Amino acid sequence: MQSANAFSAASATSPLAPTTILRRDPTEHDVQIEILFCGICHSDLHAVRDEWNEFMATEYPIVPGHEIVGRVTQTGSAVTRLKPGDIVGVGCMVDSDGTCEHCEAGLEQFCPNRILTYNSPDRHLGGVTYGGYSEMIVVDQRFVVRIPSNLDLAGAAPLLCAGITTYSPLRHWGVSKGKKVGVVGLGGLGHMGVKLAHAFGAHVVVFTTSPEKTEDARRLGADEVVVSRRTEEMEKHAGSFDFILDTVSAQHDINAYLTLLRRDGNLTLVGAPPQPLSVPAFSLIGGRHSLSGSAIGGIAETQEMLDFCGEHNITAEVEVIPIQKLNEAYDRLAKADVKYRFSIDMASLRSD
Ligand code: NAP
Ligand code: ZN
Repeated sequence: MQSANAFSAASATSPLAPTTILRRDPTEHDVQIEILFCGICHSDLHAVRDEWNEFMATEYPIVPGHEIVGRVTQTGSAVTRLKPGDIVGVGCMVDSDGTCEHCEAGLEQFCPNRILTYNSPDRHLGGVTYGGYSEMIVVDQRFVVRIPSNLDLAGAAPLLCAGITTYSPLRHWGVSKGKKVGVVGLGGLGHMGVKLAHAFGAHVVVFTTSPEKTEDARRLGADEVVVSRRTEEMEKHAGSFDFILDTVSAQHDINAYLTLLRRDGNLTLVGAPPQPLSVPAFSLIGGRHSLSGSAIGGIAETQEMLDFCGEHNITAEVEVIPIQKLNEAYDRLAKADVKYRFSIDMASLRSD
């Protein structure tokens, strides 16, 4: 076993603070990674503050972080795909059973035995898994993906969650040229959704509660921007969307978006507000609308997304912070005050 510097929270109300954690020595299938950058996802904040207690209670101490980019420092004897020095990524999952129908379909995120990067049972060391707010991690090679060499690493880290979580449903629902697509919420996920839907050729409309994000939204690839609190702007789009991706992290009125779908249109939730959302039956019945959800994406699709981003030079817009600024970053993230993802420069942890 080896020790690693990390940041953890001791309870739902404690700040994130420096700590030391244990990592296993690499087994024959493992890759040891020196973490260079880790994005801050709103899911990290939900988990640290135990906001999802009803669905997946947080075990403390928690070391969050599932948007990991790093350099391979060591590989187990059975690892042939990767070698020391390779620049790689790890997202929300670090293991799965590999045998169930979901794993066989390349949809490891739905495997009943999948292990999340943090706050899942650690079958090697006991306790729970610890995530990317740390200097290094040891991961089964099946859950390690390659980062295209042309991508900026601080901006590539958020692709491992925000990137795949938006890429997967956009692909699944056939977003392409000629389709009118809405993205609700211009945060970490939302801004990646805009970039990707634009790259797929769709007509992209951003719905935001923050009028000051309008110019950025256009620069990121939006064709139109609607300030969602302005009813008359919303009404202009009634019955016109093929697909809407909802990335909002808090309670909000999804009926306002369901009524914007055209016949057979779909609204997919990727945002995971802790409280239930209310859905009027008539908003679905009229127009044969559908409402669905989507969780990250499988490993093969994550690599496909990274390769796509490499070809199109797509990364997240990041504010790079030293790890010592984590608590400030969380407070700003809670207020939707980030443009558009925090990415922790992990060199700050090594020099601490
Ligand atoms: P984020 O950066 O905080 O973005 C969320 C955006 O939602 C905000 O920037 C804001 O955009 C909008 N918003 C926030 N509060 C709102 C409110 N009360 N009413 C209306 N709009 C509001 O968060 P994120 O990292 O993108 O994550 C978004 C959600 O997705 C979180 O719940 C997270 O846990 C979840 N998530 C799910 C998956 C999955 O696999 N399904 C993966 C990752 C994350 P505007 O300022 O533009 O209005
Ligand atoms: Zn995430």
